[in-house]
Amino acid sequence: MSALHAIVIGGGMVGAACADTLARGGARVTVLEPGPVGGGATAASMGHLVVMDDSPAQLALTARSLELWEALAPALPPQADYHTCGTLWVASDDEELAAVEPKRQAYLAAGRRATLLTAAELSRTEPQLRPGLAGALRVPGDSVVYAPVVARFLLERAGATLRREAAMALTDGGVRLAGGVVLRADVVVVANGIGAAELLPELPLRQRKGHLLITERGAPAVNHQLVELGYLKSAHGGDGDSVAFNVQPRPTGQLLIGSSRQFERPDRDIDWPLLRRMLRRAADFLPALARTSALRVWTGQRCATPDHLPLIGPHPHLDGVFLATGHEGLGITTALGTAEALGAQLFGEPSALLAHDFTPARFGRVPEAIHA
Ligand SMILES: Cc1cc2nc3c(=O)[nH]c(=O)nc-3n(C[C@H](O)[C@H](O)[C@H](O)COP(=O)(O)OP(=O)(O)OC[C@H]3O[C@@H](n4cnc5c(N)ncnc54)[C@H](O)[C@@H]3O)c2cc1C
Repeated sequence: MSALHAIVIGGGMVGAACADTLARGGARVTVLEPGPVGGGATAASMGHLVVMDDSPAQLALTARSLELWEALAPALPPQADYHTCGTLWVASDDEELAAVEPKRQAYLAAGRRATLLTAAELSRTEPQLRPGLAGALRVPGDSVVYAPVVARFLLERAGATLRREAAMALTDGGVRLAGGVVLRADVVVVANGIGAAELLPELPLRQRKGHLLITERGAPAVNHQLVELGYLKSAHGGDGDSVAFNVQPRPTGQLLIGSSRQFERPDRDIDWPLLRRMLRRAADFLPALARTSALRVWTGQRCATPDHLPLIGPHPHLDGVFLATGHEGLGITTALGTAEALGAQLFGEPSALLAHDFTPARFGRVPEAIHA
């Protein structure tokens, strides 16, 4: 019997992870990617592999993904720059510190390590932070990675056929390419990030723009990815523009600085007032940053869903079409868990992740679009 043929639309971190998992399950995989592999949001990202506990589903997906990253790490090429620096969730005041213990318990229950740092321990661990912070939660197993290299590595490992063409539309049993050619497949996986909003406009997907800045070498020495505990409140909540302190040490002695969030900004332009706000926030926590020069600034688009969880599973109406998109700010972290959950659905395998609701149908009946 011939192997299942799967078309994966999109060669970003999520598409590459899905291609790899499907190939390991025995499928013959074709990946459609008109641009550079890993060149979309994947290239714009910070590459922080982080456990997050906004919801039980998010905690399960991020914690399982971190386990999968740890298993993958020894196979990665050195250029993937994978290293485990851990995350420090920094508390500015006692109110934020009080939120640390439930978070720590949630992490422990999900099988991740997490310890509390007092104010004194925090300033010994990260002496560049401003004095007077209340403490921190240290999550030592979180890591960072240069995701575009991993996307290329996974596509090669999958032995996938890479076609440098865009999917123009989904057809019954396949994908229509530019010029009208139709590629047939048993399964089509829509993993083209925010491009899915164009291909399937009925899906509840929105762009959420972010800015990142990398400093020159010789930045203040930092040992962990540093994130303010107010991050969830200030960066994730609401529809308005927001910034939060989020800094990553690079092995080169540079710092990667985030983070900002904006809806309805589909362009790639730098929003200078917002960038200034973001940098002021960072310098508020790391005062020595004010004396550090920037090397480069860029923006990228996260692909957001209404509940901030990805769409993983069958399209509500289209037979043979599966979705793996909507990962917002966690798609590098959760690509491997996404691929595992998708593979489990396609091959009928068990996965603890299937206990959570990532199915696109959770938003109710989306209007049926006309598909050529
Ligand atoms: C500023 C910023 C910082 C971030 N930091 C982090 C972080 O620290 N940790 C983390 O986990 N996540 C982070 N993210 C989120 C992460 O980058 C995304 O969730 C992730 O890259 C999504 O991967 P993807 O493969 O779904 O999409 P993409 O990487 O965008 O890939 C989609 C691919 O599909 C292709 N494509 C589009 N349309 C078509 C079509 N019609 N046919 C064929 N191909 C098509 C595109 O060319 C693209 O290469 C960040 C995002 C941003 C913007």
